[in-house]
Amino acid sequence: MMRKILGLLILLSASCVGAASVQEQMEQNPAVKAAVEELVLANHILYDQNAVDGYGHISVRNPVNPNTFFLSRSVSPPVVKVEDIMEFDMNGNALNGDTRVAYGERFIHSGILKDRPDINSVIHGHASPVLPYGLTGTTLKPVYHMSSFLGEGAPIFEIRNVAHPNPDTDMFISSPDLGNALSKSMGLQYFVLMRGHGYATGADSIKKSVFRAIYAIQNASIQAEAMKMGQVQYLTPGEAAAAQATIEKTIGRPWQLWSERVKNKQ
Ligand code: MN
Repeated sequence: MMRKILGLLILLSASCVGAASVQEQMEQNPAVKAAVEELVLANHILYDQNAVDGYGHISVRNPVNPNTFFLSRSVSPPVVKVEDIMEFDMNGNALNGDTRVAYGERFIHSGILKDRPDINSVIHGHASPVLPYGLTGTTLKPVYHMSSFLGEGAPIFEIRNVAHPNPDTDMFISSPDLGNALSKSMGLQYFVLMRGHGYATGADSIKKSVFRAIYAIQNASIQAEAMKMGQVQYLTPGEAAAAQATIEKTIGRPWQLWSERVKNKQ
């Protein structure tokens, strides 16, 4: 009996969380406030560091409800404000009666966050240095320690393989099914290329997902330059694993720099 009552209380409190607006949740819970404010800052940093442009987006899982996530309404990353942040479920449905226009590709976030409890923040963008890899099938692999999380190479999502019945799509991840298929392509990795479109990446924190987006793009540029010069020596899987363990302990350092840059510009 007590268990039933307890279960009911948990259900009730969960539905209350879902019913409260993002603003109300921020007022009630410091962890939500911190997550939403960091999400806004991350939008500005990603634009300042050329990881996104007028398009692109970053999400964060709700720290008090693992089945929902926060993502801006449909505006460009550098102009995102706290008031723009919406809450979604793991099928990409907007919660709290929020009827504002959402990103058409929110399913990238719901697909990955649903499948990957180890990922709490997802980024999607179209940064040009990564595009050639998705186009040619040349594997994007770690050429230096900063991007060691790329491991043995980024998988490529081919939308033609999953779009039914017509393989000629508009290239957008515009449905829960396409978001789920993209997530399957990513597998257990942290970065996936999208042929003729861009990339998606993720990590357990906003800071780390931003770090990974920025350094994967730098890796793409360096790898392309190196390939013109000759045979490329990539990090071995062992080097990549060891380097990732070391470098990802230090991400607070560039984050401070990137934050101060965008704050000084405001
Ligand atoms: Mn896109």
